[in-house]
Amino acid sequence: MLFITAGIHGNEPSGVIALKNVFRILNREKPSIKGKIVGVSGNREALMRNVRFIDEDLNRTWTVENIESGKQNSNEKKEMFEIIDVLEKYPEEKFTKRYFLDCHTTSAASEPYISVQDVNDNDAWAHHFPTYIIRGFSDIVLGCIDHYESRIGLTGFVFEGGQHENKRSELNHEGMIWIALQHACNLDLFTLKEYPESAIMIEEKGKNRKTFEIKYRHGLENSDNFKMEPNFSNFQRIKKGELLAHQNGKPVYSEWDDYIFMPLYQSQGNDGFFVVEEVKGN
Ligand SMILES: [Zn+2]
Repeated sequence: MLFITAGIHGNEPSGVIALKNVFRILNREKPSIKGKIVGVSGNREALMRNVRFIDEDLNRTWTVENIESGKQNSNEKKEMFEIIDVLEKYPEEKFTKRYFLDCHTTSAASEPYISVQDVNDNDAWAHHFPTYIIRGFSDIVLGCIDHYESRIGLTGFVFEGGQHENKRSELNHEGMIWIALQHACNLDLFTLKEYPESAIMIEEKGKNRKTFEIKYRHGLENSDNFKMEPNFSNFQRIKKGELLAHQNGKPVYSEWDDYIFMPLYQSQGNDGFFVVEEVKGN
């Protein structure tokens, strides 16, 4: 069983569009698939209004406490329990294996990448896919849907398909869904009328695949005045001594010869940037 969620953040519709495209082709061509693919469009109310969320972030609500309490006191908690209801229709005992894929996009320009929580066999599964992989970042953000899915025994990861509005993000999601279907449900993409262009595009990334680990987090206090230097993008190389940002008027220089991850260009947030290092031998 392959359980795909998209639009958990309402301002990230590209995964939903990708899912619809894939289902349209599957329904038309009915290729042979072993198992079941289930697609869920996440925060429907927020998607309709094109906002990230209505009351609270649907990717922070999936704590043990919230789920045990059963309280549906926000739009997002209602959405969360609806998604859990869907998932419970496909229980563990009915399948040899259950996989998940959670589709997102980023505010900043970025190469597509997998963010994998390093538990169970998630990391090994992620390495069947051709994109960059970030290990350990998902582990430090609590209340995410992928934590819940891993906790109840599914195997999978979060996929960040690119920038929110970029057309390529849709194709990146679509390509990943095809490849997930290939590995999870033995779909032979060559049996489709046309080998999906989106899958070819994402497979191309495999030539340059890297695995990264979080090395450093530049945390901020609410009172900090923080400004990144312009034009840093995800996975850009940084050098020791390079000027990265200004914090409360003082320069912040790189202490690393590594890669920058999630530089903060929005006004809000407590993560100024991350430094990630490449893990060799993956
Ligand atoms: Zn998101």
